[in-house]
Amino acid sequence: MSAKDPSHDLSNVAITAQALTQFCDDYLSANAFKDYAPNGLQVDGGQPIRRIVTGVTACEALIDAAIEAKADAIMVHHGYFWKGEPEPITGMKGQRIRKLMQHGISMIGYHLPLDAHPIIGNNAKLAEMLGLTITEALYPHETHPVGNIAICAPQSAETLIQTITQALGRVPLHISSDCRFTNEDETNNAKLIERIGLCTGGAQDMIEQAAIMECDAYLSGEISERTTHSARELGIDYFACGHHATERGGIQALGEIVAKHFGLPVTFIDIDNPA
Ligand SMILES: [Zn+2]
Repeated sequence: MSAKDPSHDLSNVAITAQALTQFCDDYLSANAFKDYAPNGLQVDGGQPIRRIVTGVTACEALIDAAIEAKADAIMVHHGYFWKGEPEPITGMKGQRIRKLMQHGISMIGYHLPLDAHPIIGNNAKLAEMLGLTITEALYPHETHPVGNIAICAPQSAETLIQTITQALGRVPLHISSDCRFTNEDETNNAKLIERIGLCTGGAQDMIEQAAIMECDAYLSGEISERTTHSARELGIDYFACGHHATERGGIQALGEIVAKHFGLPVTFIDIDNPA
């Protein structure tokens, strides 16, 4: 009789990359999305999976951290094989994939399905972190829309900046829609924000849709030069909160679901990225 019940020893649980992917595909309804990259198993390390590392992007630093942690799989939001990128597995991409293969590490990526999931998606998690209540989709007529509209108690842009800074650990870049008004009456009556469009990552161009949907403000990760003019001319405040910073929530939450379902150790590793 063994002193230790093996069913309670996490290191004894092993699953295949296919079983892990199937579970995540189903959970995220991954096949329903048209995406810019393949969702699911992108690199098959060929080993049973006993330990998983999650992260935002499958960069070399995350692979090194996974090797160090003795992980058999990496799960990310930004994987490889994006539409339009060169196909040969050479250079930086070659180095990453070679490292994964040499260490028998599988890499699994979920892009839009992980942005859009109503409970563990990046947008849902960001709203939760900022204390916002999601009420509808930013594109209400699409079958699998990405992006949401959320409401909050009426507040000034300054208050929202404080909330974002606390939640994400970095100060957002704020483009005020009021800055084209210079007379004192307008500045004293700075508008209050209560209806917010949001989409994590590089979704700054969806600001126009947020204006169409009569949002007071729009919040995404990145900003382009043109976004400033859009905000001013559309009369909508814009908050660029960081691509990486706004997309940590989804993959972390997916990792927790996987850990619970399979009884495997899953560790989120944050490779710092100011962009
Ligand atoms: Zn992204």
